[in-house]
Amino acid sequence: MNVHDSEKVVGTLLAQGYLQVETPGEAGLVLYNTCSIRDKAEQKVFSRLQNFKKTAGKDKIFGVLGCVAQQEGEKIFDRAPHVSLVCGSASYPKFGDLLVQIENGDRHVTGLSLDTEDTFDTPLTRRDNPHRAYITIIEGCDKSCAYCVVPFTRGPERSRTGESVMAEARGLAEQGFTEIQLLGQNVNSYRDPSPAGWDFATLLARVAEVPGIRRVRYTTSHPRDFVKPIVDAMDANPVLCDHVHLPVQSGSTRVLAAMDRLYTRDEYMRRIDWLRNAKRNYSITTDIIVGFPGETEQDFQQTLELLDEVQYDSLFSFKYSPRPNTSALEMGDRLAEEEKQRRLAILQERQRAIQIRRNAEMIGATLEVLVEGHNQALAQWIGRTSDHCTLNFTHAEASLVGKYLPVRVTRSGPNSLVGEAVTVV
Ligand code: SAM
Ligand code: SF4
Repeated sequence: MNVHDSEKVVGTLLAQGYLQVETPGEAGLVLYNTCSIRDKAEQKVFSRLQNFKKTAGKDKIFGVLGCVAQQEGEKIFDRAPHVSLVCGSASYPKFGDLLVQIENGDRHVTGLSLDTEDTFDTPLTRRDNPHRAYITIIEGCDKSCAYCVVPFTRGPERSRTGESVMAEARGLAEQGFTEIQLLGQNVNSYRDPSPAGWDFATLLARVAEVPGIRRVRYTTSHPRDFVKPIVDAMDANPVLCDHVHLPVQSGSTRVLAAMDRLYTRDEYMRRIDWLRNAKRNYSITTDIIVGFPGETEQDFQQTLELLDEVQYDSLFSFKYSPRPNTSALEMGDRLAEEEKQRRLAILQERQRAIQIRRNAEMIGATLEVLVEGHNQALAQWIGRTSDHCTLNFTHAEASLVGKYLPVRVTRSGPNSLVGEAVTVV
């Protein structure tokens, strides 16, 4: 979502007459779009700001955007006095006006209000990828997971109208984009605010019908709002890709309750059963936090057992990081760093073994890939399957990026597959 926010900010800048340059050294205006989901990401922002200040010449204007901007607010001006603009994502719809203030010489410009009904839909987006486009359908988050800073940095949920999403999807198809990714912190809490009142499953089905669009993905789904009609919509139209990212966070119902995740392990498993009993094979991926305050060895073992039970195709795993304003702060950061690290390593090793085995089962299969790029060093094309696996392959053709073609899998590793194209393009 941050990548796409940056695309929209860049589009706004270009429309106001700015030019994008290759390196920060060449730039007159340097903007950092930031993440504060974990402490490490936040610290990186300040060290980059400091490092760049040392090497950069004078007369540059610096801005901090995104979640660190929202979280730290005007304190950023004290900590990094060379910064002139601090703007959270809820204020991006006003970004053009803030730029005008900068151009008029104001050196303490802020956009920090979270009190907004607006979403940042702009026709000015400058997309990085000519084949795959992101569309944000819902911004903010109304949940209150005990560990998470997002509700404090991105504000309350705001959905776009179904018609505005459809207009953007049709426009993208006309420009030649073939893959669309629908985005939201809780993408499946989507609810069309217009009288049509589409739910997420309806929106998915409609976007998948847009002529010219060959693949539709979405992220991130909250398990509580992952209802059966979503699986039915996916089953009904293969344009909706064979992949669901469904963050579980923990395999222990006790920890899930402490996290305020609003589902039990059994309720989560019911969703997995819907997917496993569906008409197509879906790849399922997840997010896991280890070392949440009070997580016992037994809770952790339940998470490992969940990996065995679900057989995820891949996962993102994190050590719990205490975040400002969150309710988990009161619970303390009770597990030692070494213990969190130990659990993370065990979890990752367990998942690696699962991926090695699952990927090896794909050898011999023929899968359609969208070609995303070329790896010069390996002399391989980089393909992406509908189930979101990387499938690299060899092909003599000079230019394949953006094409769809069938590839036969010949080798596998823990994180990707290797194959050969089966047709001449
Ligand atoms: N809305 C999504 C959901 O509910 O699953 C998650 C969005 S969050 C931006 C991405 C992931 O970051 C979460 O799924 C969680 O695993 C991780 N995360 C969030 N806060 C964290 C924290 N304080 N410490 C460690 N990991 C965290
Ligand atoms: Fe954070 Fe929970 Fe909202 Fe996801 S649902 S963004 S984890 S508060």
